[in-house]
Formats: sequence, C-alpha cells, structure tokens
Amino acid sequence: MTARLLRGGPAADALLAEATARAARLPAPPQLVMLRLGEDPASVSYVRGKDRRAREVGLKSTVYALPETTSQAELLDLIARLNADDTVNGILVQLPLPLHIQEQTVLHAIDPRKDVDGFHPLNVGELWSGRPALRPCTPAGILYLLDHYGIPVAGQRAVVVGRSSIVGRPLAGLLLHRDATVTVAHSRTPDLGAVTREADLLCVAVGQPHLITPDMVRPGATVVDVGINRVLGEGGGKAQLTGDVAPEVAQVAGAITPVPGGVGPMTIAQLLANTVLAAELQAKGRAAR
Ligand code: NAD
Repeated sequence: MTARLLRGGPAADALLAEATARAARLPAPPQLVMLRLGEDPASVSYVRGKDRRAREVGLKSTVYALPETTSQAELLDLIARLNADDTVNGILVQLPLPLHIQEQTVLHAIDPRKDVDGFHPLNVGELWSGRPALRPCTPAGILYLLDHYGIPVAGQRAVVVGRSSIVGRPLAGLLLHRDATVTVAHSRTPDLGAVTREADLLCVAVGQPHLITPDMVRPGATVVDVGINRVLGEGGGKAQLTGDVAPEVAQVAGAITPVPGGVGPMTIAQLLANTVLAAELQAKGRAAR
C-alpha cells in the first residue's frame, strides 16, 4: 500500500480563495505588518515568503526590518503605535527574537485583536476554552488541510508528538475541540512507538529527521508531518528539506503529508486568512461602537 498524499498546495489555494473573497467585501484590503529583528537567514526567508504571498493575494503587507540592536523599549513603542493604527489589521513579530528581548513581554504587548499568530495569552486561553479566536497558523492550517481532504477528526484517536506552544500544544487543543481523543507525546515519553501505534491520526512536530519509522505507525493511519529539517543531500551534496517522518512510512500509512509541500503552505495561507478574519472582526467592532 502507498499512502494517499495530502498536498498542501491545493488546500492552501482553497483557503486563500475563501479568504480573498471575504477580503473583497471589506472597505479596504486588510493590512498585515511584520516585524523582523536582525538578519537570521531563516527569519529573512520566512518573512519574505509571507510578504510575497500576502501581496499575491491582494492584501497590504508592510515589513519592518529592524536592526538586531533594537531595544525592547523601542520594539514595544512601535507595537503600541501599530496597535493604535486602525489601518493595521494584523501584527506579526517574527520569532526567535534576539536574546536581549523578552519574547513573552513582546507577545503580550500585541493587541489580541491583531494577534494573527494566535500567540497572545488571551487567544491561547480562548483556544483551550473552545471559543472562536485567532488561532496559531500551523495547527489551524493542519485542521483545514484535514477537512479539505475529507479526513475525519471527530471520534479519532489522535496522537500529537511535540508539545511546543506554536505547534504541538495548540494542535492538541484544536483536535480536542473537534472531538478527537487526544494524546500528547514529547521528549520524556517512554516507548514513543507504543503511543504512536495507537493513533488513527498521528501528527508529528519535533524537528528530528525521520524520528517516526514504519514500525511506529498503525497501518492505514493518517500521518501529518510538521517537521522541517535541513539535511545534507546524498554524498554531502546540497542541503535538502526533510520531515520528522521517514519516507518508508508512506508504505504503511493510509494518508500522509509530504515535506516539503505539505503543512508548510498551510501555515502561510492560514496567516493570511487570520489577517482577513482580524480585519472582519475589527470592522464589526468599530461598527458596534
Ligand atoms: P520545538 O523545538 O519548540 O518543540 C519540539 C518538541 O518535540 C518538544 O515539545 C519536545 O518535547 C518534543 N521532542 C523532542 N524530542 C523528542 C523525541 N525524541 N520524542 C518525542 N518528542 C520529542 O519545535 P517546534 O517549533 O514545535 O517545531 C517542530 C518542527 O516543526 C520543526 O522541525 C519546525 O521546523 C517545524 N515547523 C514547521 C512548520 C510548518 O509550517 N511546516 C511550522 C512550525 C514548525
């Protein structure tokens, strides 16, 4: 058996088509503002990708590329100005931040209504309470991808490997909200394979190439591979991207997301959908005042 490939491209296009149709009904194109500090190559590339995609789908995108030496006070001051600016609908601070800046202080400073990454504690709390709010992009994008391909969630035994606050934990919360029976495994979980073999739906967000091998997967299970790992190509050649799931798992699983081209495109699409949602909610809020 070879698993059905759950490609992110078509699902991301569908999500963006819905979002842009909604954006067209707003008085002005929603604006996303991204703040990046320093020149970390991965951050530069992620922000560039989000900016390009935002423009392609007709959103307004503004990037502040700030020096690495920017002080926390200067950053908080800029966020306060963006919070107060009604033309700004979404604010994203690209992580990781330089060590002299406290990530939590910065994330708390963003107006939760503009928190398109869904990392503000208010939005985290709303997620765990099962109330509508801005959701973290990768987990929300994964749920959209599963729905797009008709993969059932309710009543399924879901195992999430990884408990980070940007992927594993919020993904577990969203799956629980959608009536899956959820187990979260992590670096201290003994006999990981015994846990993952229980899963109808196995989601892996660890950051270790090929951690999940075929013997750890129940035949026919759906496998969502969130991992993005840079490894050297054959014979030490050009670096390639690979997931947390070994390629041979495709011989056992019923369905699987590829890396690259699986969850990655969903994350950017969900960020832009969140920007449109934030703009809609802000417009409603202003109309009610
Ligand atoms: P993280 O380092 O913050 O968290 C990793 C988690 O894995 C931790 O909770 C840890 O407990 C767990 N873990 C570590 N070793 C383990 C082991 N041997 N067995 C079981 N669990 C173990 O990472 P993150 O930010 O959640 O990212 C995870 C991966 O997903 C990375 O490869 C990252 O690049 C990728 N990622 C992809 C996207 C995307 O859009 N596709 C988005 C975010 C992150």
